[in-house]
Amino acid sequence: MDLTFTPEQQTFRRELQEWFTEHGPKGRLDSPYSEPGYSQHLEWEHALHEAGWAAPSWPSEVGGQGVDAWAELIYDEEYARFRLPERLNKMGLIHGGPTVMAHGTEQQKSEWLPGILTCEDIWCQGFSEPGAGSDLAAVRTTGRIKGDAMIVDGQKIWTSQGIIATTMFALVRTDPESRGHRGLTFVIIDLRSPGVEIRPLGQLHGNPGFAEVFFSGVEVPVANVIGEVGDGWHVASTSLALERGTARGSHTRMEQALVDLARDTAATGASGASVRRLGELAAWVAAYEQAAYASTHEIATGRGKDYASVIKMLGTQILTAVHEENLEVLGADAEVMADHGPNAEMYGMRRNYWHGRGAEIYAGSNEIQRNIIAERQLGLPKEPRG
Ligand SMILES: Cc1cc2nc3c(=O)[nH]c(=O)nc-3n(C[C@H](O)[C@H](O)[C@H](O)COP(=O)(O)OP(=O)(O)OC[C@H]3O[C@@H](n4cnc5c(N)ncnc54)[C@H](O)[C@@H]3O)c2cc1C
Repeated sequence: MDLTFTPEQQTFRRELQEWFTEHGPKGRLDSPYSEPGYSQHLEWEHALHEAGWAAPSWPSEVGGQGVDAWAELIYDEEYARFRLPERLNKMGLIHGGPTVMAHGTEQQKSEWLPGILTCEDIWCQGFSEPGAGSDLAAVRTTGRIKGDAMIVDGQKIWTSQGIIATTMFALVRTDPESRGHRGLTFVIIDLRSPGVEIRPLGQLHGNPGFAEVFFSGVEVPVANVIGEVGDGWHVASTSLALERGTARGSHTRMEQALVDLARDTAATGASGASVRRLGELAAWVAAYEQAAYASTHEIATGRGKDYASVIKMLGTQILTAVHEENLEVLGADAEVMADHGPNAEMYGMRRNYWHGRGAEIYAGSNEIQRNIIAERQLGLPKEPRG
């Protein structure tokens, strides 16, 4: 793996830096879950889209620039380095849209993809259900096919961005006789349809946006099925690998968190133990950066080794450890909430820490990632199941 960036890649990086410097929002935006915040985020998304920076790795036919995995990494690094706003439609951009690209028909691609880039449609993921989180194959929400429609009944839970989403990609059970991975279907549901109820769910760190979503007799066109009816597990696997798979600038965010930790460690008259810990964490961040680059190399060369679970598990674990150490170093000061405007909920170190705890669970918990690494990638004996 050659880690020297080519002159073209360096030019791409400089172009991005210039554009972000000139056009990036000058201060922190309000929460996207407030009316003014939503408009500010939308304005930023439109600026990105008009300049061709909404999703540079997407093919040009659908509004991207078709850049390769290394250019995508550069984009993500610079986006993180400039501390630009979290993407409003991240689930559509990162996994929903690319899953449609991988398994959808031409008609589906032209119907669904442009609305993701313009944020006309905000996508969310509807996999988890009460009683079916890690065990995704226990999905009970049903999709009954009736002519050209699928009638959906059931409940999804832990839906990130559920309160602003218009569109959900969901797994539903279309064969009532089936069990486990068989008989599931991956379908796109318009959340503005009659029979959909979205209820907000609170989170420990105070950020809004989370929801549970109820379906009663919701009519969805069968044309919204991605892949084959009954083959949803296969389609969902693509989406899950994309969700976990790439670092998306998390190594850059970790480096920033490490610099903040170093600053706080110095400012609080660091003990020998906290300096030692800072060194250990710096080594972990460097190791993670190597894993992010190795993963990019694998994707750029046609995906040999699958780093998705390693990236997901290490990324969330290290970032949480850095925040945890920062809580320790700051002591009571970590509880101070920075005031970032009337609609911001709760920022500062404590919020980062709680967010990290959630990150160890979402996209498949880290315990499950360890099982995948051990059983599927290292070929260790399977966990005994009852
Ligand atoms: C912040 C956040 C955002 C989320 N966003 C979304 C979203 O947008 N869409 C969506 O569909 N879901 C979302 N989720 C749900 C998430 O994917 C599930 O919470 C996760 O898959 C775990 O499922 P569960 O909560 O039912 O826990 P359970 O499956 O009940 O697991 C409980 C504990 O047991 C462990 N465990 C379970 N089985 C095993 C095993 N075989 N071996 C070892 N340990 C095991 C788990 O790792 C976990 O620690 C989100 C969750 C969080 C916290």
